[in-house]
Amino acid sequence: MALFTPSFSFKISASSSPRRCRFVNSPRSFTPRAAVAVETPSFSSADRDGAPKLLLEVKDLSAVIVESKQPILKGVNLTVNEGEVHAVMGKNGSGKSTFAKVLVGHPDYEITGGSITYKGQDLLEMEPEERALAGLFMSFQSPVEIPGVSNIDFLNMAYNARRRKLGLPELGPIEFYGYVAPKLEIVNMKIDFLNRNVNEGFSGGERKRNEILQLAVLGAELAILDEIDSGLDVDALRDVAKAVNGLLTPNNSVLMITHYLRLLEFIKPTYIHIMENGRIVKTGDISIAEILEREGYKAISGT
Ligand code: ADP
Ligand code: MG
Repeated sequence: MALFTPSFSFKISASSSPRRCRFVNSPRSFTPRAAVAVETPSFSSADRDGAPKLLLEVKDLSAVIVESKQPILKGVNLTVNEGEVHAVMGKNGSGKSTFAKVLVGHPDYEITGGSITYKGQDLLEMEPEERALAGLFMSFQSPVEIPGVSNIDFLNMAYNARRRKLGLPELGPIEFYGYVAPKLEIVNMKIDFLNRNVNEGFSGGERKRNEILQLAVLGAELAILDEIDSGLDVDALRDVAKAVNGLLTPNNSVLMITHYLRLLEFIKPTYIHIMENGRIVKTGDISIAEILEREGYKAISGT
């Protein structure tokens, strides 16, 4: 597996990746309209005139695996405004993780059609590093280990890269310790967690907590959380959900991929989307997840 994490790709560069902006035979795919009314958009930030502020706009996005040219995304449409929480659900293999990875610029995938606009910029023109520095954060379904690099050094480097981007002075180790230590409480981790190597020997739950710690340290305008609930017991799930909720403001947004209603009861989504065969085939509110839990995917299949 290619080692790829945009948050620290200034250390492990993904710059040898192919350009992510080739367009071939863009299939103009059919996109079903939202089928279920949404009643409770939570706390979208809005201009004074009441219009929500657009953060991410994905239009007719299609992508193939670089190596095999196998199409995976087949016309994804998604709009995320500031302050919204979007959940993406769907059967295994429907393309959820691919979609998330394409957003952060993973080199395994090539864009073959459509567009992604993030904060008014063409995201596909940005390198993975630039995306991370522009406030796009992704927690991976299977976070990688970085032997020999302590968690605190890693976080310090990543945080300083973001500060440089924002024109702020870097923090030295002692200052950074002062900044990061209180954040451990958010994820309910002990202080010695900082001295361990990144993800090395971490349990599933610790890895997920660590991802959220990274998010808490780095901050993000759009946090993409891929199955943050997988492998977590109920207590860990509550900690992680509490931490994510604590990080939400009217100005940032979350895109979370999950299989379980349980997580959505902790982190209340503004919208739920169902992905099927590389497309979002349905969008609605929490009732979609409830139907799903009761009756399975066939009850809400787009086909
Ligand atoms: P989901 O997250 O919804 O379970 P994925 O996006 O991980 O689905 O995968 C969608 C499909 O694409 C699967 O059939 C998966 O095997 C395939 N796929 C995704 N990435 C790769 C890759 N890098 N190499 C080979 N196959 C891949
Ligand atoms: Mg997945």
